[in-house]
Amino acid sequence: MTAITRRRALGQTVALSLLSVLGPGCTHPSKPSANPFTLGVASGDPLPDGVVLWTRLAPDPLNGGGMPNAAVPVRWEVAADDGMRQIVRKGEAEARPDSAHAVHVEVGGLEPARWYWYRFDALGHASAIGRTRTAPPAGAPLDRLRLALACCQNYQHGYFTAYRHMAAEELDLVLHVGDYIYEGGIKADAPRQHNSDTVSTLAAYRNRYALYKLDPDLQAAHAAFPWAAVPDDHEVFDDYAGGDAAADAPGAARRRAAAYQAYYEHLPFRAASRPRGARMRLHRTLRYGDLAAIHLLDTRQFRTAPPCGKGWSPRCPADSEPAATMLGAEQERWLYKRFAAAGRWTVLAQQVPILQRRRPRDGADQYNDDKWDGYRAARGRLFDAARQHGLDGLIALSGDVHNNWAGTLKADFDDPKSAALGAEFVATSISSNGDGADSTKGQRSIVEANPHIAFYNGQRGYLRCEIGRDAWRTDFRVVPYVSKPGAPVATRASLVVERASRRLTVT
Ligand code: FE
Ligand code: CA
Repeated sequence: MTAITRRRALGQTVALSLLSVLGPGCTHPSKPSANPFTLGVASGDPLPDGVVLWTRLAPDPLNGGGMPNAAVPVRWEVAADDGMRQIVRKGEAEARPDSAHAVHVEVGGLEPARWYWYRFDALGHASAIGRTRTAPPAGAPLDRLRLALACCQNYQHGYFTAYRHMAAEELDLVLHVGDYIYEGGIKADAPRQHNSDTVSTLAAYRNRYALYKLDPDLQAAHAAFPWAAVPDDHEVFDDYAGGDAAADAPGAARRRAAAYQAYYEHLPFRAASRPRGARMRLHRTLRYGDLAAIHLLDTRQFRTAPPCGKGWSPRCPADSEPAATMLGAEQERWLYKRFAAAGRWTVLAQQVPILQRRRPRDGADQYNDDKWDGYRAARGRLFDAARQHGLDGLIALSGDVHNNWAGTLKADFDDPKSAALGAEFVATSISSNGDGADSTKGQRSIVEANPHIAFYNGQRGYLRCEIGRDAWRTDFRVVPYVSKPGAPVATRASLVVERASRRLTVT
């Protein structure tokens, strides 16, 4: 039997068995024939011997998915070639209604540091073919790692053109540090519009994810590389702080549970991250040989209320309050313990900028209290731990602020002679805040007031990182517009960190 005939035969069997599940009284007899693979495929969280494969069956994606209230078998295959001829692993998973018919397959038994291709098959349809890559052997010498960093994809603010360009890069892994969706309502004059008012129920979050995941550029970037993701605030709601008592009020807790469930359902997470009520285990480490330990951090779920309020304000004594935390006590202990088993590079992939951004305004300096600047005691603990472990090669990869920044992490940002601890690269948005501009007067004043800041840019795009044993290069890839499709991509700047000296330079 040829692959196509076999697949068709298999599809008919599944469709027939589904009809028997539904029974003769089924009110949606036409649904099983519609293509359920509207939201694409994805893979993520690579290990040396495996990876997570993801898809979701949704023939009517914007209206709850359009699937019957029954479990449906989904066949999956992993091949060593892009034509899916040399199948190396295959199996069957169950797409269940309580997970919006999403499928998370944790494939094992693969070889390290190599490309694989994968595909799903259900209800008489085959999915698109995705490509993924396993991690290198744990601890083994590794000379090179290529990453991309992305965040902040507000659908209403523009097209995801940057992802189309990212899909054409050569990358081992894509990191996403949040604002995968935005929860807000419909903005009338937007280039593209949201599909509902502000989302707060599970059904509404699911439809919002479906809207985003229908985007062909986003689907292309998922199909091209494995991803590892952590959410920021908008996956739940704006300026979400899960460690604030207000976030545990009954209505807020229900909303958090719905938000985490929908996030889990739409990204390639391992079962260890499956939400339990209003909690989701997100912090984890990906290791790439002896070269890099990538710690994905969660600065939203456990953060206490911002001690000095929200937004830009003068420094207030409460930001040095030790009880104020970004990561929570458990995650802090977990992270600092992991500093002991570092690779040559220790990567903190997380949401909000760590470096200080002092903004001179009317004779008084201001700081953004939603970022690590508003949690100075917590930042001090992080830096102390890095110093105690003598970490060379400390790199923070951040997002959230919708523009590009690069700078040196300093033990004391107010003292220019203070030791360099590492470097930070802040990724701009994929589309949030619209077209943007290379620079504005206000942003230039921040760069001038902060000698540790080496680069600023306010256009849309993503970061491309080429990591070697002694040097880390970050290319700021930008597109000139997102208000219409088809923008070209260019490298606005390249910055290099020398591991031994911790020096950051614009090349
Ligand atoms: Fe954002
Ligand atoms: Ca954000």
